[in-house]
Parts: sequence; C-alpha cells; structure tokens
Amino acid sequence: MKSKRLKLGSAVFASALLSAGIAQAADYPDHAVNMVVPFSAGGPTDNVARSLGEAMRASLGETIVVENKGGAGGTIGTSQVARAKPDGYSILLMHIGFSTAPSLYKDPGYNPDTSFEPIGLVVDVPMTIIARSDFPANNIEELVAYLKANKDKVALANAGIGAASHLCGTMFTNAIGVDLLTIPYKGTGPAMNDLLGKQVDVMCDQTTNTTQHIKAGTVKAYAVTSKQRVPTLPDLPTMQEAGYDGFEVGIWHGMWAPKGTPKAVTDKLTSALQAGLANEDFQKRMAGLGATVLTNEANGEALTKKVNQQVPQWAELFKKSGIQPQ
Ligand code: ASP
Repeated sequence: MKSKRLKLGSAVFASALLSAGIAQAADYPDHAVNMVVPFSAGGPTDNVARSLGEAMRASLGETIVVENKGGAGGTIGTSQVARAKPDGYSILLMHIGFSTAPSLYKDPGYNPDTSFEPIGLVVDVPMTIIARSDFPANNIEELVAYLKANKDKVALANAGIGAASHLCGTMFTNAIGVDLLTIPYKGTGPAMNDLLGKQVDVMCDQTTNTTQHIKAGTVKAYAVTSKQRVPTLPDLPTMQEAGYDGFEVGIWHGMWAPKGTPKAVTDKLTSALQAGLANEDFQKRMAGLGATVLTNEANGEALTKKVNQQVPQWAELFKKSGIQPQ
C-alpha cells in the first residue's frame, strides 16, 4: 500500500515536472540568452560568437549576449556553463579545446561526455603561424632555422594549456624539436595586442584573429595548418607543403547547453544555430576570415560524434608525445 502511494506520488511529481518543462520550453526564450566564450574579448572565438549571436537572433527572437570568461585555456568558462542552470539561458561556444582539455588537466571542471547537451557544430577554422612584423625570419624555413638557433631568446604566446594556440604551438615546437618560453594569456586577443606591440615574438593563432593583421602586414605569417591552402591567404604554404607531414589541425567549434536542459529548448537552439549558419552576412564574414561554416553538422548528433572521436584521439596523441595532465 505504502509503496503504491509512493509510486503514485512520484508519477504525479514526474508529470508535473514534465509539464513545467514543456511550458518552459514553449515560452523559451523570453529574455536574452547568455553565450559564454571561454576566452577574452576581441579574439578569434569572440569574433565568431558575436557574428553568430547576431545571425541567430531573428530565429531565436531574443538577443544573445556574449560573456567572455577567459582563463586556464578555456576550462574556466567551459566549467562555468557546465554548472549553470539548465534552462537554455546559459550556452557555451567552445572549440577543439573542449576535447583536448580532459587529457591536459587532471580536473578540467567538466566531463565532455556527461556535463553538456550538444547543440551542434558551428565552424572550422585553420591556424596560422605568425610572428611580430620585425621578426628576422621571412619564410617557414628561415623561421625554423632561427628558432633552432635562438630558442632561448624567443617568446611564444598562447591562450593557456588547452587553447588552440597552445595545441598548435606545441605541435609546432615538437615537430621542430625546440622548447620555447611560452607566455599564456586569457585569449589570443590580448596576445595579439602584445605581438603587435612586439612584447612577444611568435604565435600560432586562428585565421579568425590573424587574417586582418596578415593582410595589413602588421604581423608576419609563415604557414597555415589546414590540408589545403586557405583561399583568403593564398600565398601561405600548408605545413604539409613546408615538409611537415601530417601536421594538420582544424579548429572546429561547437555549441553546448548544460546537462539537463530540456530537449525542446535544445531543439530550438539547434534550429536557431542552423538559421544563423545559413545567414548570408554570417557566411560572408566567415569566408572572409578563412573559416568554413559547418552547415551540415549543425546538430547535436554530429557534435556528439565529433567529441566521441576527438577525446580519445587527442588523449592517445598526448600520451605518445609524453604530455602529462596537470
Ligand atoms: N580561441 C582562443 C581565443 O578566442 C584562443 C585559442 O584557443 O588559442 O582567444
């Protein structure tokens, strides 16, 4: 008897919860949505986020406010969203670092498999190897020779362990066999300011931050990390062309909501993401910055598939290279 009443009680409770969830989803969103970018303002991820927020607005019917929460290679902002209320008003725009940080930190503050609901893939961005405008090397061969001969004099900027700039910088220094002094920032936005100010020497950073500076000649650029040359930067060789076999990395970006966000809400976010990616201004802007819009993978299943493939891939690669979690 007692257990029957209990069962009845929990069924009523569950259905009340369900209808509250449905009602909440029907009204969603009724105010601005907070999109956390786990890096500083003015950097590559921020650049994508602000354009995307604008492009998603019409479909969502509400504004997306970008919150920059940099630090620890993106793990601080990412774990903030993992802990946020799962009501659809806190979402995350993060990149490949989502799947590398779990092998680089003993406790990144989130679990890539259990802390989030996937919304979809967003864009894929190549990286460029760049230096301050007065750096002595004028091409990739000269750069490698200079770094080998002057390794104690060169400062490599990045956005902290787990950032794309850290990943690419580590791949590069490992490939050429030099250890450089690294200077971590909360994002490559401020790192770029210091590179322009000649306080640091070299950096590996996404085209969504570097294109304008490469075109203006305010930084020197040596190579791109994509398989093919980047149409907007046609003079830059790929790392493969420069003789670094298998040196290829694309900075895929994804959008997530905290675990437990109602499915009806994540479905709305996925539809708004798809509408945003289809927006002509957004597409033009991304093409101009060398980014590929991942229209066909802007859904939760594709993002989950990506994460499931990438987390073990990077774990194995770091293990092979002797990189230990800290
Ligand atoms: N994407 C980061 C930023 O927006 C930098 C990085 O991952 O290297 O600053």
